[in-house]
Amino acid sequence: MLKPSLKTKVTRLFGLENPIIQAGMIWCSGWKLASAVSNAGGLGIIGSGSMYPKELEENIKKCQANTKKPFAVNVPLLYPAIEKHIEIIIRNKVPIVFTSAGNPKTHTPKLKSYGIKVVHVVSSVKFAKKAEMAGVDALVAEGFEAGGHNGREETTTLVLVPAVAKAVSIPVIAAGGIGNGQAMAACMALGAEAVQVGTRFVASAESSAHTNFKRYLLEAKEGDTELVMKQLQPVRLLKNDFYKEVKAAELRGAKKEELKKILGRARAKKGMSQGELNEGELEIGQISGYLNNILPAAEIVANMMQECIETIKRTHRSLS
Ligand code: NDP
Repeated sequence: MLKPSLKTKVTRLFGLENPIIQAGMIWCSGWKLASAVSNAGGLGIIGSGSMYPKELEENIKKCQANTKKPFAVNVPLLYPAIEKHIEIIIRNKVPIVFTSAGNPKTHTPKLKSYGIKVVHVVSSVKFAKKAEMAGVDALVAEGFEAGGHNGREETTTLVLVPAVAKAVSIPVIAAGGIGNGQAMAACMALGAEAVQVGTRFVASAESSAHTNFKRYLLEAKEGDTELVMKQLQPVRLLKNDFYKEVKAAELRGAKKEELKKILGRARAKKGMSQGELNEGELEIGQISGYLNNILPAAEIVANMMQECIETIKRTHRSLS
């Protein structure tokens, strides 16, 4: 049987077989997941936000040893060791960089001068236009449904993607709430040239998330995640004791300083990497409420492609 295929501006830009891009997620996306997604024909991403420079370099080298296909590194721009990370990325000839949570003007020209393709993650039309002006090659438009860091405006993927696609002339990648082929087909209809998938890949065999976290996210039901900590950095969390503490503080009007104290240090590591389900910060998207299995990354990519193409064909048939 022929493998289903979809060619878009983004597959051409990065040289991919499929327009499926794995999100760069702290503590969950190391070389194993990134190389597995790239080998499956999508774009795998190493999430460097939870890596010291030495670890990032090791992850890049292992990824290169395990795939001959393109892969990327995600760099959250508020990361403390950013200059060192950029230097490692350039030295190791990483072909694509996804930047997030910061100003794309700062590093895009330098990365591009080394022939690296740059994509920036945005959650509003205003920042999409700014990122286009900064010279990025493509954008991720990430809606309110997404896990982890998120926009303050709470704009959903359904609203954001067509608005961004209309406002810019570079390719747009949709993110937030995409965990199956139906959602992928919907995003392509909204004007996206690819999708970025986070939560579905956390629940994969190759993700470096702790098994307790993987198991807990499969138990999540509708309404079990919420966007909190808007005063600091808005973040979508899976509900647990830590979430309850943050929520209670917010409801009694706690100020930034008190929230910072509750957050403390290395909460995300505790939750997602060490599997401490009560005390840790568990960043995950809304789609977790609808997932019920851990699959190999290649199967996730193949299933999404199959479902997406079937959905497009079904829609087309009902039209004619
Ligand atoms: P904290 O300040 O609470 O803790 C820092 C954590 O990052 C520690 O666990 C530390 O590991 C690890 N770390 C890795 N590299 C460094 C470094 N160079 N300096 C200091 N710590 C480092 O931060 P968070 O855990 O909340 O966030 C960590 C990073 O991830 C930030 O840059 C943040 O912007 C980014 N982030 C990205 C998200 C995304 O969606 N892409 C979501 C959330 C955060 P150790 O304990 O071993 O020292």
